[in-house]
Amino acid sequence: SSEEDAAKAAAVVADTGAPTIFDKIIAKEIPSTIVYEDEKVLAFRDISPEAPVHVLVIPKFRDGLTQLGKAEEKHSEILGRLLYAAKVVAEKEGILDGFRVVINSGPSACQSVYHLHLHVLGGRQMKWPPG
Ligand code: IMP
Repeated sequence: SSEEDAAKAAAVVADTGAPTIFDKIIAKEIPSTIVYEDEKVLAFRDISPEAPVHVLVIPKFRDGLTQLGKAEEKHSEILGRLLYAAKVVAEKEGILDGFRVVINSGPSACQSVYHLHLHVLGGRQMKWPPG
């Protein structure tokens, strides 16, 4: 099916460690709709939303953290801050009663941008299990 083809296409993106489009978003070289920002975290709307609320929460300093599967103990603090920022985003967006946080890590999970990011999704009834 075309759905399966799209999943396969997404799955072939490799983690090369090269700069990503998110570096340009952090540098404000390309526009984004920012929902939350502090000195270490940026949250902005996904360009291709899968739900009425779809926000990406990213570290401003990637520090080798291309994907969750490459996290090291030194990343523990930023990982905690990202998860807390996801809650702040959910609150700001009015979806605290029910929302989902997703991290796709690696090709088999269809990660397409290799700068760690949390998806915050809500504003509709979410289904389980995900595909
Ligand atoms: P992944 O598939 O988990 O790696 O998620 C990457 C997400 O980044 C996808 O949901 C894309 O729609 C989103 N995305 C890619 N480029 C941009 C952009 O320039 N602005 C906002 N979101 C983007």
